[in-house]
Amino acid sequence: MSTSTTTALQASLVELIRVSSTVLPRDVITAVDAGRKVEEVGTNAAYALDVIDCNIGLAKTKSQPLCQDTGSILVYVHTPVGYDQIEFEETFIEAVKEATTKGYLRQNSVDSITGKNSGNNVGPGTPDFHFHQWRKDHVEVKLMLKGGGCENVGVTYTLPNPKFGGRDLKGVENAILDCVLQAQGHGCGPGILGVGIGGDRVSGMAWGKHQLLRLLDDTNPDPVLAELEKSIVAKANQSGIGPMGFGGKTTLLGCKVGKLNRVPASFFVSISYMCWAFRRQGVNLAADGSITRWIY
Ligand code: SF4
Repeated sequence: MSTSTTTALQASLVELIRVSSTVLPRDVITAVDAGRKVEEVGTNAAYALDVIDCNIGLAKTKSQPLCQDTGSILVYVHTPVGYDQIEFEETFIEAVKEATTKGYLRQNSVDSITGKNSGNNVGPGTPDFHFHQWRKDHVEVKLMLKGGGCENVGVTYTLPNPKFGGRDLKGVENAILDCVLQAQGHGCGPGILGVGIGGDRVSGMAWGKHQLLRLLDDTNPDPVLAELEKSIVAKANQSGIGPMGFGGKTTLLGCKVGKLNRVPASFFVSISYMCWAFRRQGVNLAADGSITRWIY
């Protein structure tokens, strides 16, 4: 990359980080608004969603982080064949440091043993890069800031399980609903679930998290999984858990399910729980590093 391309790329990535951290994507705002419409005026649920709405507005207007928890910095990149991924990674790391200095990201990455803050949101495993090549001629970058509180309530279940059932859709659904039940009052709901059925313990959870890159209002191309997603959201929202566990009708804003093949000996249901502060954004980049399109 030429110096001017690297400079332009870093500027684009800082802007991607700023927008991801301070502006909730349209599909998430639409889902929060839909929740506000169904909660009864004067209830704790309505109050919680009003506060969330206020938070969303203030963060955008002031260009300040939506939440004090920067979260894990997850980066999903598609590049043309032959693109310099090493230089992209180095430039993204510099962009994270710059965004932290500018206050778009709170300093929130610590050494796992000593607890010492790196001060710039950079360190082993952060940012977390997922690179793939494709045959298109542009770079696509998707960024997700995954909060720690909601990450804490994610679970991997193994089936069969005497409580949830066997290695079938019913067992899967019961496991997912148990996750919602266990998460009540934690994880800053209303939540969004990214579920990976199958795979191994790593690939299943990674695929579950990957589902969170889908638009909330999309339809799963697999009709069985599409039905499962609808059923989970409907049942969770009838549970009475509500926003922040305060009671109400808005427990989940969405549920996105994908599946991977597994070995016959294992059946994992890996659930990644995302909080209302669902910070994800993406851009397409031209060869000169400039942004050509915002994805969400
Ligand atoms: S779970 Fe989400 S909303 Fe709650 S503190 Fe963490 S990032 Fe913020």
